[in-house]
Amino acid sequence: MKYKKIDSDYLLRFMQGENVTKELQFFFEKEKIVSGTIQGIGALEKAELGYFSQGKKAYDTKSFEEDLEVLSFLGNISLKENKSFAHIHVSLGRKDFSVIGGHFVSGIVGATLEILIHNFGCVLERKKEESGLFLLDL
Ligand code: ZN
Repeated sequence: MKYKKIDSDYLLRFMQGENVTKELQFFFEKEKIVSGTIQGIGALEKAELGYFSQGKKAYDTKSFEEDLEVLSFLGNISLKENKSFAHIHVSLGRKDFSVIGGHFVSGIVGATLEILIHNFGCVLERKKEESGLFLLDL
């Protein structure tokens, strides 16, 4: 992954085969980013998505292993249990032009992944609530 800082933003370019979550975690630690927004487009060759089941208070997950166009990759960055955490949702396009989407759990980059991160530069935390979810503590 390569990146470039532009004022309080960062432009990141991921390479084919890279693990998105691992690379982001490495980047957050290196640049000390604990809050902000994240957006992107590109491609994945593997993705694991989640859907939060209110009844179970847990995520149902499903994995996809195919060439997927990242139509949107949107989320925010905050501290969850003292560690930088990106909460991201994705819309992914398939070869037949249908779209799947959900809560982003993990993914392996396809041809490329272009990410823009805006650093808030402040502390923003998530706290566990009754729903079982870690929600923004504003
Ligand atoms: Zn989510």
